[in-house]
Amino acid sequence: MKLYHFRSFLDVASMASSCSKLLDFMSIIGRLKTTKRTGWVYNNVKQPESVSDHMYRMSILAFLVEDPTVDKNKCIKMSLVHDMAESIVGDIAPADGITKEDKYQREKSAMQHIQSLLDKENGLEMYNLWEEYEEEKSKEALFVKDLDKFEMILQAFEYEKAEARFGTLQEFFDSTQGIFTSKQVQEWAKELCERRAETGESKAK
Ligand code: ZN
Repeated sequence: MKLYHFRSFLDVASMASSCSKLLDFMSIIGRLKTTKRTGWVYNNVKQPESVSDHMYRMSILAFLVEDPTVDKNKCIKMSLVHDMAESIVGDIAPADGITKEDKYQREKSAMQHIQSLLDKENGLEMYNLWEEYEEEKSKEALFVKDLDKFEMILQAFEYEKAEARFGTLQEFFDSTQGIFTSKQVQEWAKELCERRAETGESKAK
């Protein structure tokens, strides 16, 4: 009986601590709502989107995958997780002068911390999805990488229109030249660039 009581006390204590960790996790993830995407901030976009804005639309784009050999649900989950480390390290842009390796290490420790706040199964799933995305080897990681870049240029086009600053975000389009690996995303990008060119022509008239 004594042992039973002892155990139940421990169970209650561990439940309380896991609940407190979960609340910490939720608060950390909440920061993504107000973490602005650095690329837009550096380019003086008036109302730059947050990291979670970007991940939300990417997750919706992931629903549209046509290739039956690509796991759609995994792509949706990966889109939701891929920039999660930015809740701790911020959105590090190339202009920040931080090496790729240093950025990777910072984000890796952030993801390890996030994992430590979750139960074993969820923690491992989120960490593994992040790592798989970073490694860019699986079909899903390559597709989600395409979505990441496509969502960025779609957003760039929208800012150019909304803020009447046509052509000023050209560098984002240049950075995606020839990098899309999925045929489907290549088509989206082509359509987008055609529409942007048309908008530019009508503005020039
Ligand atoms: Zn991203």
